[in-house]
Amino acid sequence: MIIVLRPDATEEQIQHIVDKVQKLGLRPMISKGVERTIIGVIGEEDVIQAQPLEIYPGVEKVMPILKPYKLVSRDFKKEDSIIDLGGGVKVGGKKLIVMAGPCSVESENLLLDIAKKVKEAGALVLRGGAFKPRTSPYSFQGLGEEGLKYLAKAKEETGLLIITEIMDVREIGRIEKYADILQVGARNMQNFDLLKELGHIRKPILLKRGMANTVKEFLMSAEYILSGGNFSVVLCERGIRTFEESTRFTLDISAIPVIKNLSHLPVMVDPSHATGKWGLVGPCAKAAIAAGADGLIIEVHPNPEEAFSDGEQSLLPERFSALMGELRKVAKSVDREM
Ligand code: PEP
Ligand code: MN
Repeated sequence: MIIVLRPDATEEQIQHIVDKVQKLGLRPMISKGVERTIIGVIGEEDVIQAQPLEIYPGVEKVMPILKPYKLVSRDFKKEDSIIDLGGGVKVGGKKLIVMAGPCSVESENLLLDIAKKVKEAGALVLRGGAFKPRTSPYSFQGLGEEGLKYLAKAKEETGLLIITEIMDVREIGRIEKYADILQVGARNMQNFDLLKELGHIRKPILLKRGMANTVKEFLMSAEYILSGGNFSVVLCERGIRTFEESTRFTLDISAIPVIKNLSHLPVMVDPSHATGKWGLVGPCAKAAIAAGADGLIIEVHPNPEEAFSDGEQSLLPERFSALMGELRKVAKSVDREM
């Protein structure tokens, strides 16, 4: 249920409603818009429906949210959410955000070298996995905390924000200490215990779409995080599994406007994992911006042949830099900045 307040509703009236809702054992979620405040009421549907919420002072109307996801829906919040990633970097507004770096953190020197190059090209966030979700248990699993320390060092030297993947609920404290943004990978999109815990932290989350999940399931996963109280969620389309074999996954470009219609959350795109081939990263990155994406996450490696993971889809730093120039033109043509 959403309680839409009158534009002139006072703070006391809002607090009164919040207190009442809490007394009923329900959870109020406040969204302060430009024009008016909305309170989402979360809890058992029948308990909510039995309450005469419309009689409280300051209330304009009470509406059911018909969609299964509530807090992530456009019904709950009309305006686009702009998520603060830290250090004044925001995603979801006019400015497009590019995150770039290696698939895995491999060594301190290599990471630093890549960080400097992607920064020079215009990236604002450094990516790099320290805990890697590999298909084979015999493949490189990541450097763990050592990798996190290298990421922190790269941040210190370059000023770039850091994003890294969280796979295990037990690692939240450790990763939170080093990273600015926590990435939930495709394979963990429905790790509900992890999502619930991430709802309780204050760092932004980049939630990637599962390779075999619908948009609805994707938004339900985001709902887990928001319903825990963490509204700083950025969605990321990274390709889904289809019958097509010429790319690693199939980039679902239409998911961008579909999600933008259904949700207020920012949507980023990962053209690296979606295509699996470096030569396809550029065209798909351009398509993503043209379709309304709020940012990109791209894998970059100076020696793809020797990369510990995903070399085939990694761009050389100079190719990444050239691509950034091309992307700026596409961004401008759809009235975005980079
Ligand atoms: C990654 O970004 O390193 C990654 C493993 O991506 P995904 O979860 O989308 O496969
Ligand atoms: Mn990768």
